[in-house]
Amino acid sequence: MYRCPLCNREFKSFAGLKLHFAKAHPVDGRGDCPLCGRRGVELRMHYYNRARAGDLLHKVVYGLTPRSNGWREAPLKKECRRLAMEVLKGPRTSLPREEEGQID
Ligand SMILES: [Zn+2]
Ligand SMILES: [Zn+2]
Repeated sequence: MYRCPLCNREFKSFAGLKLHFAKAHPVDGRGDCPLCGRRGVELRMHYYNRARAGDLLHKVVYGLTPRSNGWREAPLKKECRRLAMEVLKGPRTSLPREEEGQID
């Protein structure tokens, strides 16, 4: 099972998840980032920039973004897609977050 990082719905395949993501969480145009709360950002660009800066959650989400005309697929995209497949797969119920280091 693959879990959508934004709404937690589960899908049998990564392809199914990507389809869902494209429909339910469009990245073209401006909006508020559901990951870090930045307001009024160009989402596709924002995910890309944060992913390039090394942010795990943004990398995962960037790995799910559909292709877009006029955008070259950066090599980073491949890396992020692989990462998304690893992180979102399986029975985990949440994404790894920074707080998780503090389980007692
Ligand atoms: Zn979703
Ligand atoms: Zn963000």
